[in-house]
Amino acid sequence: MIFTTIREIRHHINEEKKKGRQIGLVPTMGYLHEGHLSLIRQAKERGNYVVLSIFVNPLQFGPNEDYARYPRDLKRDEKLADEAGVDAIFAPSVEEMYPEKSLTYVTVEKLSDTLCGLTRPGHFRGVATVVSKLFHIIEPDEAFFGQKDIQQVRIIEQMVTDLNFPIKVVRCPIIREEDGLAMSSRNVYLSPAERREAPILYKALRRAEKAFLNGEIDGNTLVHLVKEQIEQSPSAKIEYVRLVHLKTLDEVTKVTDPAILAVAVRFGTTRLIDNILLEPSQNLHYMHKHEGEHGGA
Ligand code: AMP
Repeated sequence: MIFTTIREIRHHINEEKKKGRQIGLVPTMGYLHEGHLSLIRQAKERGNYVVLSIFVNPLQFGPNEDYARYPRDLKRDEKLADEAGVDAIFAPSVEEMYPEKSLTYVTVEKLSDTLCGLTRPGHFRGVATVVSKLFHIIEPDEAFFGQKDIQQVRIIEQMVTDLNFPIKVVRCPIIREEDGLAMSSRNVYLSPAERREAPILYKALRRAEKAFLNGEIDGNTLVHLVKEQIEQSPSAKIEYVRLVHLKTLDEVTKVTDPAILAVAVRFGTTRLIDNILLEPSQNLHYMHKHEGEHGGA
């Protein structure tokens, strides 16, 4: 079932809530791939009545970004959503979501000013604003976001805490192509040559992860390992490679808490992001240290 107006989806959700259904929201910009479908499946598995929103949100695109050419195919999305078990789709027009120029925005400070926020000013304000609108329209019990956009998830989690949304945010793992490239609607922009080079991102992250698991916890060294590998690719232009604290997104010099190694790289006009989680509990030296502690206790 597809709804395009706020009035109709609200009415429909109210009816489902009266039946005692728990509502799970999966916000997307459409052009669905396995990454989106994994969020839908997760929402389903947790027993939700699953609402998929499809909205290419102009507010989160900068003036020189790809809003106009962002891939859209609602018919195909409807079919895939249906097969994955989505219960209702909310696909509003821009006029429905923004009938007049908004004067109210949601800004999650600090977390929005780092990583992708540095080259995409206003992007996370657009994301937080549209997600809070969707939260008010759908009033879900749970909302599902991919770790692919780790900064986005952190920002939404912070917004939910700070503004007391009664919603559980569920983080879902990154789904990848067979060669390791993180799935993204934007991968269709890549030329065949760029597509062949793009898996270098994950390869580079894995290289650093391997070093980390073997005991390397120095931030500069881990970042260097990633950069050095990506620089092997002739068409890759690095925007950033950074190691940040999983919660605060502050730069870390030694991995003593869970950290994210995050990259943004351009291939021609296509900007790709990827990241990997580094957990100190999986690091060899940390494990030895704690084994020792156990032994002595
Ligand atoms: P988008 O349509 O790109 O805005 O993405 C909608 C949701 O799907 C976001 O929560 C993304 O983090 C998530 N997502 C996108 N790509 C992937 C992926 N490869 N694996 C897991 N989740 C993803």
